[in-house]
Amino acid sequence: MIKNPDSLLNKIPDLTDEHEKQIAMYFPQYAFYENKSKTTCDYFCTSCQSWHIGEQLRLCHNQKFVCGHCKESVEAKALHYGRKSLERSRKFGFCFAVDGRLYIRFVTAYQLFSDDLYNENPIEILPEYTFTNEYLYVYEQHAMQRFSYYYGSFHLMKSDGVIPYTSQGLAWYWGPSEKALLSSWGQTVLLNLDVIAHTDLKYSGAYELSDRYTVHKILKWLNLYVRHNNAEYLIKGGFDRIADLLMNGQLKLNKIHWKENNLLKMLGCRKTDIHRFCEYGTNEIELYRNIIKEEPNIQNASSFVSSLSKLGTFAVNEIHDAGVKYRQILKYGKNHQRVMLWKDYLDNCKRLPEGIEELMPAHLEQAHDRAVEKVAYYTNKTEAEMIAKRAKTLKPLLMDTQNLVMLAPETGEEIISEGKILKHCVGGYVNRHARGDTVILFIRHKASPSIPYFTIEVNPKSLTIVQCHGYKNERESNYKKPPEIVEFEQQYTKFLEDIKNVRNNSKRTA
Ligand SMILES: [Zn+2]
Repeated sequence: MIKNPDSLLNKIPDLTDEHEKQIAMYFPQYAFYENKSKTTCDYFCTSCQSWHIGEQLRLCHNQKFVCGHCKESVEAKALHYGRKSLERSRKFGFCFAVDGRLYIRFVTAYQLFSDDLYNENPIEILPEYTFTNEYLYVYEQHAMQRFSYYYGSFHLMKSDGVIPYTSQGLAWYWGPSEKALLSSWGQTVLLNLDVIAHTDLKYSGAYELSDRYTVHKILKWLNLYVRHNNAEYLIKGGFDRIADLLMNGQLKLNKIHWKENNLLKMLGCRKTDIHRFCEYGTNEIELYRNIIKEEPNIQNASSFVSSLSKLGTFAVNEIHDAGVKYRQILKYGKNHQRVMLWKDYLDNCKRLPEGIEELMPAHLEQAHDRAVEKVAYYTNKTEAEMIAKRAKTLKPLLMDTQNLVMLAPETGEEIISEGKILKHCVGGYVNRHARGDTVILFIRHKASPSIPYFTIEVNPKSLTIVQCHGYKNERESNYKKPPEIVEFEQQYTKFLEDIKNVRNNSKRTA
């Protein structure tokens, strides 16, 4: 933020006819024509701004062609066509140098044509350009300040940042037509950035970047530069890639030692490795720095990095974090495939109660498969423990009748085999039952309590029956729900209601 920001508003430079001339080339240009005979026509070209009478050609409405006089590509429009519908808009940022500061005025510019009727004497049909204010960005050596224009004046914005990426409003709603695309913030044109040479930002490198970067990136770079003036060394030293990573947020700002005044120290890079380093991505930078820390006497750090990154930089850094030295990773890891298996092995071990027992097992593949099996076993074991625990707490929900008895499952296998024997889908409910999201109970004959008969699902919150099914969900025509089950369901509904009433009463008295 700049001190006394309001004073900046007293010096906003005006937009002049010169600016109007500058923007014309960013708008479509037209030839307003009238065919005069089978082979000739008259047209007014908005690009060379003159009438061409008796041209040896015939034009069609909306035809694109190159004006033979100015050699610019223009679009033919019939002279009597309603020209008001040709209105187009586009975003521009005009740069100015003011007292050593860089001002950028962001505006929406409109190109308009009036609908003047054609008269006997050829008239000039020139577009008019008008501007509306959008934003004002002001940069000085160590700070930036931006303003947003609304209700007829500029208002302070409390953060740094960049202009919007897409146009707001209806333009996109109607689909990205040529017209809408042109008017979006993504197509913003930055003009006159060369004035930066007359500001305190002359060493920022922003002008050098402007031929290959979008407006958004240049603004991001300026925002970064005013915070860390040393950023200029990155551009001058050819570290565009690192500048790029910083602008994209892929490399955190605090990864650069900004207080250093020497590029190598800023980057934490040795002179001999500089050519490789400037091509590095985020993971490789981290890898490089860790290696130098781990082996301060290493001779050829950059070739060590490239051997290691062939194995997969992300996996290598993960394995290193688990406690393996880089040199050992290279030796034991051998190739990318094996490193991925190794990383998966370690990830699985981390999920076991005993943790990682061997960082580099003698037989990696077997150790990997064993770890995967163990993880599956422990997952099942936790589930089994939960189901056994539930069997105890669900006892109050069990109701007996003269002939029928209810049981709560003691294990996950019981639920699965119930589903297999009765050929219904309860097997898929093991997880939800274990977690307590639902309740699965068995209804059996008192005379044969170990043989599956009916299975009931109860909603644990509302204490109501969700479903109650027997063999093949009674879908076969000769197998209907027996009367004893229908009666049981009625009794059980009342039974659950009683429990619910008791529960509610105890809540009320509590
Ligand atoms: Zn022309």
